[in-house]
Amino acid sequence: MTVKINENYLLLESNYIFSEINQRVDKYQDNNPEAKIIRMGIGDVTRPLPNAVINKFTEAVVEMSKADSFHGYGPEQGYDFLIEEIIKHDYAPRGINLSKEEVFISDGAKCDTANIQEIFDLGNTVAVTDPVYPVYVDSNVMAGRTGPMGDDGRYHNLVYIPCTEDNGFVPELPEKSVDLIYLCYPNNPTGTALTKEELSVWVEYARENNSIILFDAAYEAYIQENNIPHSIYEIEGAREVAIEFRSFSKNAGFTGTRCAYTVVPQELIGFDNNGNPHSVNKLWNRRQTTKFNGVSYPIQVAASAVYSEEGQKEIAESIDYYMNNAAIILESLSSLGLRIYGGVNSPYIWIKTPDDMDSWKFFDLLLDEAHVVGTPGVGFGPSGEGYLRLTAFNTLENTKEAMERISKLSI
Ligand code: PLP
Repeated sequence: MTVKINENYLLLESNYIFSEINQRVDKYQDNNPEAKIIRMGIGDVTRPLPNAVINKFTEAVVEMSKADSFHGYGPEQGYDFLIEEIIKHDYAPRGINLSKEEVFISDGAKCDTANIQEIFDLGNTVAVTDPVYPVYVDSNVMAGRTGPMGDDGRYHNLVYIPCTEDNGFVPELPEKSVDLIYLCYPNNPTGTALTKEELSVWVEYARENNSIILFDAAYEAYIQENNIPHSIYEIEGAREVAIEFRSFSKNAGFTGTRCAYTVVPQELIGFDNNGNPHSVNKLWNRRQTTKFNGVSYPIQVAASAVYSEEGQKEIAESIDYYMNNAAIILESLSSLGLRIYGGVNSPYIWIKTPDDMDSWKFFDLLLDEAHVVGTPGVGFGPSGEGYLRLTAFNTLENTKEAMERISKLSI
């Protein structure tokens, strides 16, 4: 007997964008050891966890050291103390009522957005915006829902919804009816956001077509403008058609600590082959209780401290810090005459390359001549060609220095 592999894995693109970037940067640094490279490519935060979080985290670790306050396995769905804080602070003030059974704590929006597809049939048609956070695509490739990639850089059975300068980065409804729709707003990588009216169009579409929207709101905390919804459930009728993913990674610095949550409303229904309705919430609960054993107690305590008065103040300061960087990037690059998007309701800045240069050429130019590392837009999908992403997550000093260097280039 020989063991056969899941051949869908062979359909994945082999060169993951960030390893290609690292190879080019390492090579450049080897050849130019004196160059002080500033990395503005990867979407990881740089500021430490808030004090309020660290204090509660530490107390919870100490609790684990004593028999009478030790915690073993917790509920797979998360502790009530955290779920209650989430509902009270993230949803109730926006007029959204959630029950505790609708919130599932996890160790990341990455795994939740990747895993969610497995509770849906392989025959569903999946739509993604293009460019896109690659996890949505790759998890469907692995499951066998996409077929192979064509010469145009698109998987045959995926529906790509281009978001470019031409449509103001607002996704247009697909011509062909789709079942599962991944939307991420504020968007990674373009940094653009959707207004309530623009998002309502998609909720209406999903209601008319019996589709489900998988709404990734990992960057919700960066929203500055008033008419941008923080949750898809601010749109009437969304409870029947949308799952929402949130994370403590980007608002509270949990990228290395790991805590997130997913909201699956009770009204959400999918159908079996005989046309009988089933609760999607129950399926996700079943999936999580079978394959996941919960986030550790100290981390959930730490996450609940995000909602304390001190925690809220500290995370607001961090977001202001990053958004100040974003404003500096926007101002410097626009004054060079570059066409720049995002950076207003998100920490990502999406740059149209000058003279229609391709993404990798512009990447190399910034690396060679300014020693600044961005992320080539084409790494996020075919419609990302001709763009480059910078992030506001570096330090203020490095951000300013990077902008000074780029300002000296003749572009
Ligand atoms: N969703 C989007 C759109 C992201 O950009 C990221 C991280 O970069 C994630 C989810 C991952 O979140 P987490 O750290 O909670 O896994």
